[in-house]
Amino acid sequence: MKEYDIIIVGAGMAGLTAGIYAGRAGKKVLILESGAVGGQIVNALVVENWPGELKVSGKDLMEGVSRQAANCGAEIKYEETVNISEKEGLFTVTTDEEEYECKTVIVATGTKPRKMSEKQTLSAGSRPISYCATCDGALYKDKVVVVVGSGNTAKHEIKYLEEICKKVLHIHHDEPIPEEAEAVFVAIGRVPSTDLVKNLVELDSDGYIVADEDCVTSCPGMFVAGDCRTKSVRQLVTASSDGAVAVNAALDYLER
Ligand SMILES: Cc1cc2nc3c(=O)[nH]c(=O)nc-3n(C[C@H](O)[C@H](O)[C@H](O)COP(=O)(O)OP(=O)(O)OC[C@H]3O[C@@H](n4cnc5c(N)ncnc54)[C@H](O)[C@@H]3O)c2cc1C
Repeated sequence: MKEYDIIIVGAGMAGLTAGIYAGRAGKKVLILESGAVGGQIVNALVVENWPGELKVSGKDLMEGVSRQAANCGAEIKYEETVNISEKEGLFTVTTDEEEYECKTVIVATGTKPRKMSEKQTLSAGSRPISYCATCDGALYKDKVVVVVGSGNTAKHEIKYLEEICKKVLHIHHDEPIPEEAEAVFVAIGRVPSTDLVKNLVELDSDGYIVADEDCVTSCPGMFVAGDCRTKSVRQLVTASSDGAVAVNAALDYLER
């Protein structure tokens, strides 16, 4: 079984920044990513609040951070982490392809789109369901689509789809999908991706991993970074900051 000092689960802004710091500290570090490297921001066409860049696409920004992490010595593998267990201070991290052993884990799994209720999903029947207008909008050119949700993200999705589709309907999160809609775009918020560690660390009532600014969790040797942590501001800069702080906490732990 391959062994590492630090395994980071998730290659979004938090996980990749952690990779940069861990690599630069000379640690043997592995980053595991189940989807596309870069996390949720890769679908954002423009980011205007990343310091040092007037405007940058989410994809370009994250390609740069990913390159930097690899350059600093972090190994990145495209594998989904399916289980983490702990025994006598060592973690076994199981992916859909392999098993790894490590002394510390940094959970940087972020958040994922909230799904519609079972009743609402049933009312959609076999019609396609998407969670990203930027990614899938072009597939429904000149078609009738419906956007589910009432927050800022829903408003943004509606505006984007109105440029492409024949008609954009709008309903709230508990209404049935209208008959005439040919595709459904869901924008009803996000939930933390923390099922993986729910038996190892304390979660709050919404499922976020409980940790202060020090990124230390209730499980010794396990740290958390980014949007999946209890915090008030979920943004790129706070995710990046967490990545650095979590690695420093992990280094302290390894030294002890
Ligand atoms: C549409 C949109 C626009 C935004 N615009 C801005 C903006 O302009 N400015 C800004 O500052 N913030 C913005 N944000 C917020 C910002 O994207 C997040 O705060 C930030 O990306 C969080 O980074 P993260 O690394 O914590 O999590 P994420 O980006 O969610 O990354 C987590 C990663 O973990 C992976 N993962 C999850 N589970 C597993 C597993 N079991 N095994 C392996 N990998 C796993 C996921 O695939 C994902 O790649 C935006 C968010 C959205 C959705």
